[in-house]
Amino acid sequence: MNNKMGYAWAMNSNRFFPKNDAAGFMPKHDRTAWLKGGTAVCEMPPRRPLGHAWRIVLLGAPGIGKGTQAELLCERLGTCHLSTGDVFRTAKCLTEQEQTDSMKTALRFMRQGALVPDETVLGLIRDRQRCLRCSGGFLLDGFPRTVAQAEALENFLEKEKVSLTAVLNYELPIEKIVARISGRRLCAGCKAVYHLATLPPRMANVCDRCGGSLFQREDDRPESVEVRMKAYEVSTRPLINFYQSRGLLMSISAEGSPEEIYHRTRLLALGR
Ligand code: ADP
Repeated sequence: MNNKMGYAWAMNSNRFFPKNDAAGFMPKHDRTAWLKGGTAVCEMPPRRPLGHAWRIVLLGAPGIGKGTQAELLCERLGTCHLSTGDVFRTAKCLTEQEQTDSMKTALRFMRQGALVPDETVLGLIRDRQRCLRCSGGFLLDGFPRTVAQAEALENFLEKEKVSLTAVLNYELPIEKIVARISGRRLCAGCKAVYHLATLPPRMANVCDRCGGSLFQREDDRPESVEVRMKAYEVSTRPLINFYQSRGLLMSISAEGSPEEIYHRTRLLALGR
């Protein structure tokens, strides 16, 4: 997977980040161990931080912008972006023969916008458990998504003798989230993220960065979005109480641009 994904907007804004290469993109951990699982090893693992490692869970409805915030926070905190959605999307690029049966099942659910069954997701996490004890810390995005997954995560972390630093819960009215999702477009080449209204490419349907063509995620189509929103309300929203009762929850408004939300997150949650 290209290690520069998700930074289209940062290209135009270097307020928070210095330029690190000729194209102005930040170097990133490659996440091979997470994306492939099993015995796969990261070529560029996160560095051990000088202070404590951050271990964060991101909560919020689908399409609220967790992935974008995760990318920004990971750069800042030196942690790794562990997204379950990215694992499924990576598997989607494999051939039929390369995909395991459980991955094929997972992709069927994902295409419809439905939650992948807990046992499949937990199998995937078990196979990547060492990412949870990585000395660089982690930022979980898209997991846990049900109370059963949150309980399993508690067990995994207990076994690894590590604990969560915080759970950041992004909030936005549902109509605004649906508008965000329906305008989202991805580059087929480098996976940069655009938005037709708020972050359009310079030339329609062409990636500014690599010239690749832009596409809409299958599960961003209206029929899947409705299913995803319902799944969030029924299965994921209860995690707000779950983490509140453990004193870990911090709620953050997801109004405004990615840069504004990131700034808010830093002030509220990271205290800087
Ligand atoms: P979004 O948050 O925008 O919906 P993700 O990339 O996190 O996107 O997830 C995409 C899809 O992958 C979900 O709609 C769901 O089908 C599946 N998925 C990802 N993580 C989980 C999970 N923890 N439990 C169940 N299904 C999941």
